[in-house]
Order: sequence, then structure tokens, then C-alpha cells
Amino acid sequence: AIPLSTIAGVARAAEFGVLVRNIDALQACNELDTLVFDKTGTLTTGEMEVINIETLNCFTQTELLSLVKSIEQQATHPIAKAIVKFCDNHIACEIENREIDKLQIIKGQGIIATYQQQQVKVGNQKFVNFTADLTAYSPATTFVFVAIDEQVVGIIQLQDRLRPESKPLIQQFQQQGYYCVMLTGDRQVTAEYYAQQLGLDQVIAEVLPEQKAEQIFKLQQQGRKVAMIGDGINDSPALAQANVGIAMHNGSEIAIETADLSLMRKGLQPFAEILPFSKRVMRNMQ
Ligand code: ADP
Ligand code: MG
Repeated sequence: AIPLSTIAGVARAAEFGVLVRNIDALQACNELDTLVFDKTGTLTTGEMEVINIETLNCFTQTELLSLVKSIEQQATHPIAKAIVKFCDNHIACEIENREIDKLQIIKGQGIIATYQQQQVKVGNQKFVNFTADLTAYSPATTFVFVAIDEQVVGIIQLQDRLRPESKPLIQQFQQQGYYCVMLTGDRQVTAEYYAQQLGLDQVIAEVLPEQKAEQIFKLQQQGRKVAMIGDGINDSPALAQANVGIAMHNGSEIAIETADLSLMRKGLQPFAEILPFSKRVMRNMQ
């Protein structure tokens, strides 16, 4: 039978916004020493905004946005949402729907599709094999490249922002003795830009979803007890690997299903409350 104190613990957790999906997670929370955070949508709001668009190789903005909108409207990533929203509000050019075939979402990298028998890739630098140097660009922006038959025709830059509670909470976690890590599929410079603002202990960037899980495993091999907190489809292998996996409110369905705990309120605050709380619950159970 489940001890009454555990049931009370689950009920209490729900009161401050944490849904306990796996009861053992309350005990596991008590033993954590390392907290790993996804970047986009976890430490940041994930409400991204398109701030710059460049076209290359004689492509027009109208052509680029028509094609990209038709592709991204089939995805749910914060990047996809931001691009579609931008296209909808961007009345400067007449965006038309393009007939897209064979669309495939490659999580953590981008989208590959066919348009008029041409291969279209929308995604990160490695995904489209773009070799140009980006050091002249702001470290704060996330990049999306658009390539047609391996030729880059567009560069879209998006801006995200930190959640207001991220910095004070990271400081609080560190004062409580937790080792705090950022784990992201975004590029190294952008990850470092945000990590520095937050004063994180470690940054792991440019990793694919399966590699996110491997990085959690590596930390565990160092003897660490690891919580992973994330929101995306790309985070679910890492959420499964962690000692405790936590899904953000509004996280993707797969993330929520994989997680041991899921947050029922926006932001990181409910997670900060479960840590001291799990210690109290365990004390009551003994
Ligand atoms: P994060 O770990 O920050 O949540 P992801 O692993 O989901 O990021 O994605 C890594 C990178 O892959 C993004 O920064 C972006 O360049 C690219 N990418 C992912 N999904 C998409 C998409 N739907 N459209 C375009 N690019 C994408
Ligand atoms: Mg994310």
C-alpha cells in the first residue's frame, strides 16, 4: 500500500503546482545534487521573435517567407511558432501558401521537405551544411537557415529572452548546493551568452536529443544524482534518463508523458518549491 504520508505529499505538491506522475520521484528529489536545464522554453520563455531575415542567391523575401511558412506551420517548436506568427503579421510582402510534399521533422535539427521536386531544408547550421562564419552576428540570437537543393537562400534570426525568475532561482539553487547545468541543441555561443548571464556551472550545447540523454548519463557516471527539466520533444530522452525528469507547463505532450513530475503552473517557480518540500515529505515518512 502507498503510505498515507506519500499520498499527502502528492496532494500537497499539487497545491503548489507540481503534478507527481511517479511517486518514487519525491524520494529521488530528496537525493539530487545536480540540476540540468534545457534552454529554449525552460530557462527562456520560448516566446521567440523573428528579428532579422536575410535572403541570399537572389531569393526574395516573399519567396522565402512563403516557403518557410508553409513548412513551419506543420511544426510545433517555439521557432516554428515564431516564424509563422511573424509571417502572419508581416504584411510587407504577399505570402502565399506553397504546396509542400514529404515533410519530415528532424527533432533538434530542423525540417526537411520537398517543394516542386526540390529538397528544402529549414534548420540549424550543421543541418544545412552552411560553412560561413557567424562571429559577426549577435551571440544572443538563434539561427535558422533555409536551403534549397543544398544552396542556402535565407538566414532567419530569432530572439528569445530569459524568464525573469531564472537568474534568482539559479542563484538560490547554487546557494543550496546544487550544481546547475544548461543542456541545449542551440549553438555554443548563444548557449554561453545566456549561461553567463545566469552564472551556470556548466554549459553543454549543440547536442541532438539522444546526445542530451548521453550527457545526463555522463553526469550520473560521475556519481551525480541528476534532475533534468525541459519542455520539448527533443528533451524527452534526457527526461527519461535523469533520476528525476521534470516537464514544464505547456511542454510538449511527449515531454509530459516521459517526465516523473510535471509543472502545472507557468515558469520555473513550482520546481523550486518541490526541492525543499521533498525533504520535508521524506522526513515525515521516516
Ligand atoms: P533547444 O535544445 O534549445 O530546445 P532544439 O534541440 O529543439 O533546441 O533545436 C536545436 C536547433 O535546431 C535550433 O536552434 C534550430 O536552429 C534548429 N531547429 C530545431 N527545430 C527547428 C524548426 N522547427 N525549424 C527550424 N529550425 C529548427
Ligand atoms: Mg526547449
